[in-house]
Amino acid sequence: MTSLPRVGLGTDVHPIEAGRPCRLLCLHFDDADGCAGHSDGDVAAHALCDALLSAAGLGDLGEVFGTGRPEWHGVSGADMLRHVCGLVCAAGFRVGNAAVQVIGNKPKVGPRRAEAQKLLSELVGAPVSVSATTTDGLGLTGRGEGLAAIATALVIADTGGPADAGSGQIGR
Ligand code: MG
Repeated sequence: MTSLPRVGLGTDVHPIEAGRPCRLLCLHFDDADGCAGHSDGDVAAHALCDALLSAAGLGDLGEVFGTGRPEWHGVSGADMLRHVCGLVCAAGFRVGNAAVQVIGNKPKVGPRRAEAQKLLSELVGAPVSVSATTTDGLGLTGRGEGLAAIATALVIADTGGPADAGSGQIGR
C-alpha cells in the first residue's frame, strides 16, 4: 500500500483594532496595531491551523475552536497550532511541510521572516515557509483596515496509523 500525501488550505481575515497588541506568525510586533478577534487575532496562525485541519480532513477552525467555546477565548496562535498538530497526529498523519502568506501593509514581515519560520517550524514539527505581500493599496488590507493570511499544508499518513485505513491511499 502507498499513501498519497494530502494537501490542505486555509485563509483568515481579521479587522485591525487601534491599540491592540499585534500578534502575527506567533510573534509580537511592537510597531503595528493588532487584529481584533475571539483569540489573539493571529491571522497567520489561524490560516495555518485551518490548512493543517483541511489536509488531514478534520474540518475547520470554527469546528475545533468555535466562538461558542469559552475555554478557547483569548487563546494564542501558538497554543492553537499545538492543539491542531496534536489532532493531526492523533488522526494518523504527520506534517510534511506548510506555507503561510500574510497579506497586509503592517507589520513588515520580511525583517522577521527567519525568526517566524524557525518558531512556526518548531511548533508544527515540519518546515514552515513564511511570505508576505501587499495589495497595492486595494481592498481592506490595502486600506489598512485588516490583515489576511492564506496557508497550505501537506500531511502524510503515518505508516500503521489510523489514516492508513481511510482515504488518501492507493493500493498496488
Ligand atoms: Mg481567525
